[in-house]
Amino acid sequence: MPSSHGYAALGSQSPLVPYAFTRRDPDPTEIAIEILYCGVCHSDLHMSRNEWGQSIYPMIPGHEIVGRVIAVGTSSTKFKPGDIAAVGVIVDSCRQCAPCHRGEEHFCDQGPTLTYSAPDRVDGSITMGGYSNNYVVDERFAHRVPANLDLAAVAPLLCAGITTYSPLRHWKAGPGKKVGIVGLGGLGHMALKFAHSFGAHVVQFTTNLRKREDALKLGADEVVLSSDPAAMKAHTKSFDLILDCVSAPHPLDDYLALLKQDATLTLVGLPDTPPSFSVFNLITRRASIAGSMIGGMPETQEMLDYCGQHSIFSEVEVIPIQNVNEAFERLLKQDVKYRFVIDMSTLK
Ligand code: NAP
Ligand code: ZN
Ligand code: ZN
Repeated sequence: MPSSHGYAALGSQSPLVPYAFTRRDPDPTEIAIEILYCGVCHSDLHMSRNEWGQSIYPMIPGHEIVGRVIAVGTSSTKFKPGDIAAVGVIVDSCRQCAPCHRGEEHFCDQGPTLTYSAPDRVDGSITMGGYSNNYVVDERFAHRVPANLDLAAVAPLLCAGITTYSPLRHWKAGPGKKVGIVGLGGLGHMALKFAHSFGAHVVQFTTNLRKREDALKLGADEVVLSSDPAAMKAHTKSFDLILDCVSAPHPLDDYLALLKQDATLTLVGLPDTPPSFSVFNLITRRASIAGSMIGGMPETQEMLDYCGQHSIFSEVEVIPIQNVNEAFERLLKQDVKYRFVIDMSTLK
């Protein structure tokens, strides 16, 4: 492998700083890619600051990766040098358990290997993510990219895209269903695009009414300011599904009250503190609170193909890697439309 370098957090208080390291050569079924673009997910911020208590340093974040294949292992057949390939949140799993056999590697009984800050199953080193110049990954965990989409706008599909596509499919968002999306950020804007494309009636909840026009353009049928009690009350007991994409603690009862009988509030956002809610809001409508995490490898490819067929992509602000710390600060201020993507050609 050529030498590797990127931007790393050296500890939970550390900004991201230039960092050099080594990657192993690809095994027979692996490929090496030169990274072209990497999205900036709010999980990268949670992880680099150890907000979930599982971070390993030094840490190079980044799990929304699009790149060009530069080498293929001796028995690798899916890609050839020069192809475009994409990598998301996980890069390996046990490949033996029932979820792995079903193509739900993200639910691997032994736990999937995360793209960064996790022990590599091959050599025990700590995985380093996509805020870097290259990656080595098994071809099973790399995806083909639709040829008609802009590569920077594809990168966020690898996390924000699949994390919202999968639960919307699972809970059958579609014609005749009223679906709420909470939070118009990286995940939220993809959820909005998918739910609209699947034919549901979509209501975007936001804390910031300045996002109203954008939400309507992105596919919302209605936009509700979540701090407006009257506007919230108007939707009481009317939703089939609400997908919560919020990164910070916030009241769940406001949304449980809006569910119909037998409806579901699905959490994908991962605030650093556990939520609290009133059980009364569940029993009075037999409602469910559920969670969902990314998607398996077959469904991730299905999502990418769907995006190619329907021209669905992320709204992005492309940044040089030197601005990544500023991008983290802007994420915290909800100042992003709607995903930062690092142009890796700026990494010298
Ligand atoms: P993001 O771009 O920062 O968007 C988060 C949105 O949440 C903001 O745009 C804002 O929307 C809303 N929000 C922020 N602070 C809030 C507060 N205090 N109260 C109410 N609303 C608030 O983040 P993201 O990248 O989409 O990630 C969202 C969350 O999903 C993160 O916690 C991330 O770690 C998690 N995640 C989970 C998975 C999974 O597999 N389950 C995968 C990826 C990410 P408005 O301005 O519209 O209110
Ligand atoms: Zn992510
Ligand atoms: Zn497994």
